[in-house]
Amino acid sequence: SPLLNIDHLSASVDGTPLLHDINLAVGARETHVIMGPNGAGKSTLGHLIMGDSTYDISAGHITFDGQDVTDLSPDKRSRAGIFLSFQAPVEIPGVPVSSFLRAAAAGREGLDLKGKQFRKHVRALADQLDMDPTYLDRELGVGFSGGEKKKLEMLQLLLLRPKLAILDETDSGLDVDALGVVSRGIEAYRTSTEGALVVITHNTRILERLDVDRVHVMVRGRLVAEGDASLIAEIDEHGFERFEREAELAL
Ligand code: ADP
Ligand code: MG
Ligand code: MG
Repeated sequence: SPLLNIDHLSASVDGTPLLHDINLAVGARETHVIMGPNGAGKSTLGHLIMGDSTYDISAGHITFDGQDVTDLSPDKRSRAGIFLSFQAPVEIPGVPVSSFLRAAAAGREGLDLKGKQFRKHVRALADQLDMDPTYLDRELGVGFSGGEKKKLEMLQLLLLRPKLAILDETDSGLDVDALGVVSRGIEAYRTSTEGALVVITHNTRILERLDVDRVHVMVRGRLVAEGDASLIAEIDEHGFERFEREAELAL
């Protein structure tokens, strides 16, 4: 059975349906991409996989690694090996990035390292991402640019080595420096773990260097098309119009 299996999932917020009959299977080591126009429900799906209680599940199930996680808290899902990139980390003045990372790793198998060892480990990860090590001393979230938030996500990803990483890129553009960190982070995750990857993105530049197994197209809260990596080039050229038209006809 696949690592992640979403079975006929529908969800709403405050009585408003947002996702309709989502079916998605992601196997270990696979790379999936979810694309779709703004407001389609891509981020909502990511949050639901992570267990965000803002949303009500009206039908369906999510199983992960052989376990029904539909009713599991985000923390338990995280410990089970699901990771969702968070675009907006909290701001905690006075708390350095390294301390935050240490807290995130606390109680995790193989990561409960002593202070000095932990710092060494995290510094190696920053090095792998070609990041300035002084970033680790920055106050958490304070004055972070979009790119600096991304760097934190990539450090968390390589530190926690989840079984499934969901990376939700925002629509806002990343600068070249941040794009480099994201690309290196994804590549390092890909080559150093057995983990599966779900990338939610508009940024086909990030996808260029990825070996993509499946592409899913989301329109108006539905997954309306699925294909191989060639779908990315098609969307790049023609946008989502074809899918939006088909979705309209299907209603
Ligand atoms: P995407 O990531 O594809 O751009 P989102 O998942 O962010 O789309 O949003 C899908 C739709 O659901 C949008 O219309 C958005 O306004 C709505 N939505 C998402 N989260 C909430 C929420 N917590 N409360 C109300 N509406 C929401
Ligand atoms: Mg599939
Ligand atoms: Mg989004």
